[in-house]
Amino acid sequence: MATLEIRDLHVSVETKEGAKPILRGVDLTIASGETHAIMGPNGSGKSTLASALAGHPKYAVTQGSVTLDGEDVLAMSVDERARAGLFLAMQYPVEVPGVSVANFLRTAKTAIAGEAPKLRTWGKEVKGAMENLRIDPAFSERSLNEGFSGGEKKRHEILQLELLKPRFAILDETDSGLDVDALRIVSEGVNRALASTDVGVLLITHYTRILRYIKPDFVHVFVDGRIAEEGGPELAERLENEGYDRFVGAGATMS
Ligand code: ADP
Ligand code: MG
Ligand code: MG
Repeated sequence: MATLEIRDLHVSVETKEGAKPILRGVDLTIASGETHAIMGPNGSGKSTLASALAGHPKYAVTQGSVTLDGEDVLAMSVDERARAGLFLAMQYPVEVPGVSVANFLRTAKTAIAGEAPKLRTWGKEVKGAMENLRIDPAFSERSLNEGFSGGEKKRHEILQLELLKPRFAILDETDSGLDVDALRIVSEGVNRALASTDVGVLLITHYTRILRYIKPDFVHVFVDGRIAEEGGPELAERLENEGYDRFVGAGATMS
């Protein structure tokens, strides 16, 4: 049982005009096996939270703390965060020509596990996970993120989730740009990880539709850089019907 604890987190983003405060005191605790959804209007700071947790250099933590079982996550390098069991899809957003998907997965697994996976069983695991996600076998020889379509990026994200078996996964807009079939396949991947491991999931989304496939235990509504309301799955249903209007006033809707 592990706990990811975010306390009074304040984050500023570097812009040409200087540091711009975005997160204004986020409090959130995620335990192993729990699924938390963060929902909120565009521009409310959801991706900023993900970037800050990933250790993106543009996002400066000005106040507060993030700990994983008491260990200071903010003091860790990006690699150390991965080894500690944090999975942030945004950790590797860059195109890496010359590094194939297969090589990347094996290197990442080795770094996280502390030893190289056994070649034969690893090959089988990768093949099985790719079949589950309906990923073409040729995909594993592609250069990392080079020319990936939106859907391929999302599937690669879930492929990593299934193979790297993190303790906590932060998934930002995993549903965006997916058609209904791809959304179902990707959601099934997340649900397999939830069922077969003790992973804690933070699912960040603007829309409620992915929550028809992945059932959150807790829903947090993010407005203006902080959590404005919290509840169970019923809160997502309410947002589906009512949108974000009552949080941000008329004009902001789900669409
Ligand atoms: P969300 O993911 O909820 O749509 P973001 O975290 O992407 O929100 O953005 C929150 C606010 O921070 C927005 O006003 C956005 O313009 C600003 N912001 C985020 N990242 C940057 C950046 N790299 N440069 C300038 N402004 C940024
Ligand atoms: Mg975003
Ligand atoms: Mg579970």
